[in-house]
Amino acid sequence: MFRRLMIVMLAVCGLLVPASAWAKVEIVATTPDLAVVARELGGPDVHVVAMALPTQDPHFVDAKPHLALALSKANLLLVTGAGLEVGWLPTLLTGSRNPDIQPGSPGYLDCSSLVTLLEVPTTQVDRSQGDIHPQGNPHFTYDPRRVETLAVGIGKRLAELDPAHKPGYFVRTKSFVDGLRLARARWEARLAKARGLKIIAYHNSLVYLADWLGVDVVEHIEPKPGIPPNPSHVAHVLEVAKTSKVRAIVQQAYYPSGTSKLIADKSGATFLQFPGNPDFAAAQSYSGYMDDLVGKLAHALGI
Ligand SMILES: [Zn+2]
Repeated sequence: MFRRLMIVMLAVCGLLVPASAWAKVEIVATTPDLAVVARELGGPDVHVVAMALPTQDPHFVDAKPHLALALSKANLLLVTGAGLEVGWLPTLLTGSRNPDIQPGSPGYLDCSSLVTLLEVPTTQVDRSQGDIHPQGNPHFTYDPRRVETLAVGIGKRLAELDPAHKPGYFVRTKSFVDGLRLARARWEARLAKARGLKIIAYHNSLVYLADWLGVDVVEHIEPKPGIPPNPSHVAHVLEVAKTSKVRAIVQQAYYPSGTSKLIADKSGATFLQFPGNPDFAAAQSYSGYMDDLVGKLAHALGI
């Protein structure tokens, strides 16, 4: 009886403790791009864990036990959404038994709800056909304009969850946005001549980059997102590369590179492989990551 009373009392105390009593807000982000933004906005008031590695395709992440443990302790879960994590997150999230970060809770933030998505299907997509973008294209963090609105949304949620540190979140969000705008002007100047140039991507993940910079993604090595290329599709992509005078075959480093290199070799295009996500563990920032990507892209496009 006494034990039961103690449990009830502890539960009540737990409910009464304001959120601001957290030493640090424990943030788990499914992907490194979200994690580096959250780390910058949260500063000393947060501790951030990134689930996927920058070397992993974020559509397919191993559901390792340590990830479930991180989720069990989290106060805020940041997901890319739009179906990106649908293949691996739900099991881990249920297994975490953490009611604070389940969908619909204040501790669950679907970042795709903060930005304007592209390629949202107007009809129901049949996932049995292998389409892994059933709710629109989820690769929006290659567009710094969308990352700006994303940062504002994450900063706002942090201030709501941890009101004691609200001024800090506000100042850091403003600083992030100001810095990002300056960097974006620099990137846009560097890639001004990219507008209208044709590239081929491995996976349909550069649509937001194209939307931002005006580059033209004319084909993909994958016939559909998540479906590996077959010989007839490779022949078609090679034909497109030759006839459209494609400047570069561009892909994240976590995809196989053989087909892309082959098409680049035979068409005279440049092959560009880049890290798909910021190096969170090495303390890379979003701007640092984009500096690198913009430089590589300019070089590959010959501008
Ligand atoms: Zn994708």
